Amino acid sequence: MRSTMQDAPLLINRILRHGEFLYAHKKVLTVTSDGVREATFAQVARRSEQLAVALADLGIGEGDRVATFMWNNQEHLEAYFAVPCMGAVLHTLNIRLFPEQLAFIINHAQDQVIIVDDTLIPLLARVRDQIPTVRHIIVNGIDEAKLLGETLSYEDLIARYPSGYEWPEMDERSASVMCYTSGTTGDPKGVVYSHRSIWLHSLASTTANSIGLSEKDRCLLIVPMFHVNAWGAPYSAYLAGMDLVMPQMFLQGDPIVRMIRELRPTVSLGVPTIWNEVLHAAEASGDADFSSVRGLLGGGAAVPRHLIEAFRDEFNVDVIQGWGMTETSPLGAVSIPPAGTPRDQEIEFRAKAGRIVAGVEVRVTAEDGTVLDHDGTSVGEFEIRGPWITGSYYGVDAPERFHDGWLRTGDVGTLDNLGYMVISDRTKDVIKSGGEWISSVELENAVMGHPAVFEAAVVAVSDEKWQERPLCCVVLRPGKSASAQELRDYLATKVVKWWLPERWCFLDSLPKTSVGKFDKKVLRALYVEGTLDVITLG
Ligand code: AMP
Repeated sequence: MRSTMQDAPLLINRILRHGEFLYAHKKVLTVTSDGVREATFAQVARRSEQLAVALADLGIGEGDRVATFMWNNQEHLEAYFAVPCMGAVLHTLNIRLFPEQLAFIINHAQDQVIIVDDTLIPLLARVRDQIPTVRHIIVNGIDEAKLLGETLSYEDLIARYPSGYEWPEMDERSASVMCYTSGTTGDPKGVVYSHRSIWLHSLASTTANSIGLSEKDRCLLIVPMFHVNAWGAPYSAYLAGMDLVMPQMFLQGDPIVRMIRELRPTVSLGVPTIWNEVLHAAEASGDADFSSVRGLLGGGAAVPRHLIEAFRDEFNVDVIQGWGMTETSPLGAVSIPPAGTPRDQEIEFRAKAGRIVAGVEVRVTAEDGTVLDHDGTSVGEFEIRGPWITGSYYGVDAPERFHDGWLRTGDVGTLDNLGYMVISDRTKDVIKSGGEWISSVELENAVMGHPAVFEAAVVAVSDEKWQERPLCCVVLRPGKSASAQELRDYLATKVVKWWLPERWCFLDSLPKTSVGKFDKKVLRALYVEGTLDVITLG
C-alpha cells in the first residue's frame, strides 16, 4: 500500500520563504571597522532576488557554478540564497588556500562567476590568469578592483535589477552548494550538497537534542562560511528565525570578546583554537560578559577538556562539542549530556566528541571491515551514513573512502551504548608505539590542562626501538614558563607511563590549517627536516 501524503520538494527557496515570512524583522548584523551594519531577513531576501536576476542576466543558468571568495557578511548570505534558489550551484572558496590549491579547485569546479570582498582582491589577483572558466568577477565593497581588470560592483549590479523573482521549482536532489575538503593530504575533493540534504540538515540543527537553534537565538558566526557552509547555520537561521552576527575579518580574541559583550549572542560557532584565544582574551580583558550566551559550539577538532572546564568555572558558559566533516554537512554528533546528569558530572559527556544526531547512523569497524560493538571500548574507524552524508566526491572516484554504502570517516575511536563518540585520532595521525596505539588527541588534551601551556600538538616521529613515539610541541602562555621535564611530570599524573613523550619542543606558535586546526603534517615535516629544536628527556 502506498501512503497518500503529499510530496513537496525540500528546496532551499522554501527555507528562504519561511524565514522572510515568519521572521521578516529578524536581523543580520555585519561587523565593520565603522560599526555594525544591520539588515532584516526581509531585506536580505529582496536583495537575494535582485542578485539572482543579475546573475541570470550574466548568463548563469541551471547547474552553473558561482563562487564566493568572502568573509562572513550580509552579501555572502545573499549569495547563499540567490545562487541555489535560482538553480545554480554555490561554491564557497576558502580564502586561506595557497594560490595553487585555489586555482585547482576553481578550475575543477569550473566556476563561471566569483563574488569577492574588496579586501580579498589581492589574494584572488594572484590566480586571475590561471582560471579561464571564470567569466565575471563581482566585487563587494569599495570599487578598488583595478587589480583584476574586468569587474562589476556588487551594489551597482544588483541596483539595476528588480526584486520579486519567482524561484523555479526543481528536483530536491539537484546540487545546491559545493565545498572542497581542506585537503591535508592530496588534492582537495569536492562535496556536493543537494537542496534536500541542506533542508534536512538545517532541520536537524533546530532539534532540541542537537543544537536546538530557535527564534530565541542570536548566533555569532565565527566559523567561516567557506568551512562546510558555516556548519549550516545560515540556512538554519532562516528556518528557525535566529539572528546572525557576521564578524567579517575581526576574528581575534579581543574583538570577539567585545562582540559577545556588545551584541549579546546566545550561541557562537567556532573551532577550538578560536575558543582558546577567546578564553585567554576574556581572562585578560577584565570586562568580558558572557551572560547572554547559552552555548559556545566547538567542533572541527577535539575540544580540550580544560577549555570546557575553564569556560564553565570562570564565565559560567557551556562549551558544546560537536563532531562532523565537510562530507557530513557537517552535523554528525553533538555532545549534550543525557537527561538527569548531575551538573558536576556533565563534563564526562561534554569532553566527548558528541552523541549521534537523529537522522544519521554511526558505527565503528575494525581494519578488516568487521563491525565492532558499541561498548565504549572497542577501537576502530568510524563510519557514517544518512541523508546529509556524501555518497561520493565530485568528479573523482574514491572507492576507498566508502564501505558498503557507509562513508569511512578516517577518524578512529570508540562508540558507547548511549551513542557517544570518543575520537582518539585521525587514521593518518595515530602514533603506533611498539604495535600499540597512543592517542595524540588525549595527550594534547592532557598537556593543555597545564596552567603554563597555551596550546600543544602531538605528532608521531619515527623511533628505532618503538617504530614511532610521540613528539609534543608546546606553545607557552605569554609570561609563563615550564620546562619539558616539568610538563612530563605533570602528564605522568594524567596518562599511562608508556605514553609519556621523551621528545619535546617549544614554539612561538603552532602551524594551523586553512580552517584553523593544528597542522600536524607541517609539524612532522619540520621534524624530519631537522628544523625543530627538540629536547629529548632520558
Ligand atoms: P573538516 O572536513 O575540515 O571539517 O574536517 C573533519 C575532521 O575534523 C573530522 O574527520 C575529524 O578528524 C575532525 N573533527 C571534527 N570534529 C571533531 C571533534 N569534536 N573531535 C575530534 N576531531 C574532530
